[in-house]
Amino acid sequence: SVSGKTAIVTGSNSGIGLGVAEELAKAGAKVVLNSFTDRDEDHKLAEELAAKYGTEVRYIAADMSKGDDCRALVEKAGGCDILVNNAGIQHVAAIDEFPTEKWDAIIAINLSSSFHTIAAALPGMREKGWGRVVNIASAHGLTASPYKSAYVAAKHGIVGLTKTVALETAEQPITCNAICPGYVLTPLVEAQIPDTMKKYDMSREDVVRNVLLERQPSKEFATTEQIGGTVAFLCSPAAEQITGTTISIDGGWTAL
Ligand code: NAD
Repeated sequence: SVSGKTAIVTGSNSGIGLGVAEELAKAGAKVVLNSFTDRDEDHKLAEELAAKYGTEVRYIAADMSKGDDCRALVEKAGGCDILVNNAGIQHVAAIDEFPTEKWDAIIAINLSSSFHTIAAALPGMREKGWGRVVNIASAHGLTASPYKSAYVAAKHGIVGLTKTVALETAEQPITCNAICPGYVLTPLVEAQIPDTMKKYDMSREDVVRNVLLERQPSKEFATTEQIGGTVAFLCSPAAEQITGTTISIDGGWTAL
């Protein structure tokens, strides 16, 4: 059902976005990869995926911290049947020490970018009579942790935006949902390990089991393939009446 459809995945030159892009390419979608960089290796990555999956894969640079870039990404893609809002950053600090520029960047990239891409993509979806919006939120869209004020605020915000867009598209063959992963081992999570080791004076193993996966009852990371497979499911006919909701992929975290 995604075969031949154009899928834009924001922030997809690494981590979850790349995993989602691969699953959609595998299923035959024409994929647009994105990040804010415009390096040879970004375009090579697109070529590699195109060759690997026998489908069209392009890389379009656009900075998701800038509203105009977000809208230009959708324009340059020349159509968008499936929009996966995935670009995201993290910063960990107590609120009274949280740098304002980090707050602003997290709200812009993790929340406002989706406002802009969705606004730009919906008219085309309405015209074609089919569309899927999948926002990559987080377990932190449903519950909080200390020292992640901007991230938790942005992720709760994206869950609210998801519900609103679902209501505005409810009578059209368009759905909008959010996926809420727990911990997935990606560069974003990897980058948190050294600081956390220092902060708690712990080994890497202890940080992984007792800090990162402390609230993930399965004690296992989710995989980028699992996130990608869930996006593909949300694009399938079985998911036609699933809209305005969240799907947790968190090993039981939000059941606690
Ligand atoms: P990552 O750092 O591996 O990937 C983030 C992607 O976003 C990269 O491709 C990066 O280039 C891109 N990006 C960053 N700033 C950008 C900008 N200004 N413009 C365009 N692209 C930009 O991280 P990840 O873990 O794969 O995270 C992807 C998404 O999944 C994020 O929204 C994150 O909050 C969410 N998430 C991750 C986890 C996890 O455990 N890894 C859990 C829940 C939610």
